[in-house]
Parts: sequence; C-alpha cells; structure tokens
Amino acid sequence: MTQQTEGEAPEKKGLNFVEQIVADDLKAGKNGGRLNTRFPPEPNGYLHIGHAKAICMDFGVAEKFGGTCNLRFDDTNPVKEDVEYVDSIREDIHWLGFDWGNREYYASDYFPKLYDLAVRLIKEGKAYVDDQSSEEIARQKGTPTEPGQESPYRNRSVEENLDLFERMNAGEFDEGSRVLRAKIDMASPNMHFRDPIMYRIIKTPHHRTGDKWKVYPMYDFAHGQSDYFEGVTHSICTLEFEVHRPLYEYFVKELADESYCPRQIEFNRLNLTYTVMSKRKLLQLVKEGLVAGWDDPRMPTISGMRRRGFTPKSIRNFVDKIGYTKYEALNSVGLLEHAVREDLNAVSTRGMAVINPVKVVITNYPEGAEEMVEMENNPENPAEGTHSMPFSREIYIERDDFMENPPKKFFRLAPEGEVRLKGAYIIKCTGVKKDDNGNIEEIYCTYDPETRSGLPGSMRKVKGTLHWVSAKHAVDATVNMYDRLFNVENPSAETERDFRELLNPDSLKVVKGVKVEPFLAENAKPGAHFQFQRIGYFTPDTDSKEGVLIFNRTIALKDSWEKEQKKA
Ligand code: ATP
Ligand code: MG
Repeated sequence: MTQQTEGEAPEKKGLNFVEQIVADDLKAGKNGGRLNTRFPPEPNGYLHIGHAKAICMDFGVAEKFGGTCNLRFDDTNPVKEDVEYVDSIREDIHWLGFDWGNREYYASDYFPKLYDLAVRLIKEGKAYVDDQSSEEIARQKGTPTEPGQESPYRNRSVEENLDLFERMNAGEFDEGSRVLRAKIDMASPNMHFRDPIMYRIIKTPHHRTGDKWKVYPMYDFAHGQSDYFEGVTHSICTLEFEVHRPLYEYFVKELADESYCPRQIEFNRLNLTYTVMSKRKLLQLVKEGLVAGWDDPRMPTISGMRRRGFTPKSIRNFVDKIGYTKYEALNSVGLLEHAVREDLNAVSTRGMAVINPVKVVITNYPEGAEEMVEMENNPENPAEGTHSMPFSREIYIERDDFMENPPKKFFRLAPEGEVRLKGAYIIKCTGVKKDDNGNIEEIYCTYDPETRSGLPGSMRKVKGTLHWVSAKHAVDATVNMYDRLFNVENPSAETERDFRELLNPDSLKVVKGVKVEPFLAENAKPGAHFQFQRIGYFTPDTDSKEGVLIFNRTIALKDSWEKEQKKA
C-alpha cells in the first residue's frame, strides 16, 4: 500500500474509469441501454466512511447517467445480522443525500430462487453434497501452483445429492457436517474454481425469514444471481472481489443470455490513516466498551461522523478528492479533515465560547450596567446577518490568553498591555489577583469607551483580538474534545501488537465549566454547526438538552493538510 499524496484530485472534468465503462456500455446499447447499479451492504454492522465511497459510486454513477440504484441488504448470514443494522444503514444513506426510492431488496428475498437454481445444478451434475468438514475441504484446496484434491464425495449420484441437500435444509444434519459444493475443477489455476462451497447449514433464525431455511447461500453463490434477479447491469464493488469475478460470471451465466447480463467492476477501497475499517474490529470496539457505541464521534462510522459534526457534503467532497482507481492506497485523514473544515467554514455559525475561563473585571465600567454588541453570524456569508451578544463589567477570557511575564511576540493580554475584545472594546490590563498558590483568580482591566466597535476610536491599532463572554450572561457547557482514535498511522499494518493496544488514550477529553454566549445555548439544536471563534468547529451532542449543554468538537481550526502536503 502506498500513502496517497496527490493533493486535490482534479476538479470533476473527465469521467473516472468506472463511469467510462458505464458510458461505453450505454453507448453500445448493452442491456437494452439500461443502467441499474446496487449498493449491497451486509446488515452486520454500521456503515463507515469506506462504505460512503461505495455509496457515492453506486448511487452517483446511476444519477449521472440517468439510471437507478438499488439498496440490497446482503443478508445471507443470520448469525451476524440484525434489524438494528438495517435501520442504521437506511438512515446513513439518506443522510449522505442518496435515495433508492422503492428499490429496497434483500438477498433473502431470493432464497427460493437460489435454492431452485442449486437443485437444478445438482440435477445437471454441477453440484454435490460434501460430508467433509470445512477444515478438511480447505486442506484439499491445493495451492496456486499445485492442484487441489478431489473430495471422496464428489461423484455421488444426482439422487443422493438431491436427497441430502433437501435433508440439509430440513434441519436433519448438524451445522458444519455437510455443505453443497459446485463441481467445477479442482485443478483450476483460479483457486475460487476449485469446487467452491455454495451452501452451508446454519440453524440460527434469520431476522426476516425466521427458521424457514436451514441452508444459506455463500456470498459467491448469492451475489451475482441476486444482481441478475434484480436487473442490475453494473455490479460495482471493491478490488478484493476481482479474483471472484470469474466465479461471479460462471454462476450468472447459468441464468443470463445475450440480451441481459450483469457485469462486475472493481475499484480500490478507502483506507484511512489513524483508524481501522474492518467491521469485525469496529464491532469489537463497541462490544468491549472501548468506545461509547457505533456512533461514538471517534468512530469512522457515518453515524459517528454525523454525531461528531461532519457534514454529508464534506464526506462527499472527500470521496471526490481521493477518486477511484485500481490501486490500493492509504488515504490521509488529514485530507478528510481538510474537506470538513472547508465546508464548515462556509456553513457554520460563529459564536463565542471560552473553554478554560479566567475572569476579567473591567473596573471603569459601571457596576450593574450592560449593553449589547453585534456579532457577525458568518463572515463567509453576510446574508446570515448578525446576532446580539451581551457585554458587562465582568467577562471571561481564555486563561491562555493572559500572561504575566510574556515573551516578546505575545500579542495577547499582559500587564499594562492592550487587546481588543472582539466586537466590543479595547481593554488595558492594570493588575491581577492571585490565590495563596499564586494562581491568577482575576484580571483587572480598564476599557476605553471611545473604542467601541463601530466608533472611529475602534480603528486604533492593537496587536491582539480576544474572544470573550459576559460572565453574568454566560451559560455553562461541557465540551467533548475528540482526537484521533489510534496513535499509529496504519493500525491494520501492525503485526506485533493487538490493534486495541494502539488506541490513543487521549482521544477524548471532557472539559466541564466551559462558558458560552447565550446565543449558542439558544441555538444548540441537533445538527447545528458552530465555529467557536478562535477555537474550532463544534456541534451539539445528541445527549445535549435544555439545561445540560454538551458540545462535540468536530475539529480544531488549524489545518494540518497543507503542511502535510509540503512535507510530502
Ligand atoms: P464484511 O467484511 O462484513 O463483508 P464489508 O466492509 O465488505 O464487510 P459490506 O457490507 O459487505 O461490508 O460492504 C458493502 C459494500 O461496501 C461492498 O460493495 C463493499 O465493496 C463496499 N465497501 C466496504 N468497505 C469499503 C471500503 N473501505 N472502501 C470502499 N468500499 C467499501
Ligand atoms: Mg462484504
């Protein structure tokens, strides 16, 4: 795998290679000029950003060429599947901005037809029941350079095979005691052709078909045929299926003719630095309580990213930037974060919040007085207008924005120094009050009434501008500061240590006693995007409610992506 270092992918001009294939097929009038794709998640976990890449492709290409895209739940393994996952998958695709209309299908809808096809293949001498264990079968597989060994059950009579397969499905045999295999070629150079397993016995009830079936089709025996039954013309998937393609075609040819035949096309997966994408590992993180759930904002899941405050647009832009190729790559999370900042800069509402507050008393401001100052909601979009923010004699600023003995280039507040309070006045520090341990409790300042924002005096030059909130109006909030979930760039490449040992212990810091301006508290609705001035982008957490304000930090303001690019 190579680190992907190309910067912004070219603006959408040409077609990507998949779109090119589709365009050519349409032009050649294949499948009667029809275009139908599908997105085929297995409902055994929540969707992640990798799935988003597949979704953008499957739905995107259909949209682009006036075709349709089916949502097909690939529910062939009841042991791992659940309706909770079905529901979350639907929600996440919609949130990304795609819709499958009434084309929601399930591989389990095709169980009867698949069973009939299996019976037909048995009758034609193309399938047989093998009484060996899967370990024995694996042992006889051979290697890419050595042919496999034929099963002793390979030449059973059609009658015996039919009888056994029927009884497998009736529940007469234990799980693992028998399988149905395709009778193809144990010497084929393609290992997938060495009598692949078509059906296995599973006795766990299925979330849709209950205990109707005791045999379940393998992926290779279900996917292509499901595509065919649905009228899918282009079955777009990730590169690991490339080696399965001949088998896909082998089974599909049992059904298709020249007038219509689905076609499989593969592209490279999305892999992201500082995270894992395997559903098995993500499930482990959830089950072992190493994260707070599938939608934990540190997870690479779509629901996690939504809760974190990522926008659908930023995810789609990111997928666009990385593009689709035939080469595996490791994509930088820095590029995803860059796309998130780009969109949030355009859409988020600005507000003031002080994360680590220290009180400032403005000694020459009349006690009990207060006034409102106007704050821009979004300088990127003046149409969003302004909101009012209260100013009074006592305010909070960030503790870090004051230094008693500042170094030379410190442009924030220091004794005898001046700073501008954003949107309000210029203040000058006149002293501090410390507790017995020498910690600063309060800072004393005077303000210059002539420098109110909007007055000519406000034009006076001072080096620093600070964010602040009025102490008596401020609302208390808790802020979840999220960082990368893993400490290493490519956790999946680590061979020495278990992936759970690579978790970043500082991936979540909960900060209480944050002071936010009233406007932020009033507008902390689910899905809102804010920029806390000078701090970063934040969104109300799903657990936030009236009286218990919780914000998630989506991302800090500073972008590391450009730096990363220069280094590369
Ligand atoms: P599993 O190991 O459970 O099969 P999976 O990640 O392949 O996991 P599926 O639900 O089978 O999950 O995936 C649905 C579709 O999403 C497939 O077409 C698959 O190719 C695609 N997909 C999965 N992971 C990625 C990824 N990282 N990048 C791009 N596409 C992906
Ligand atoms: Mg899969």
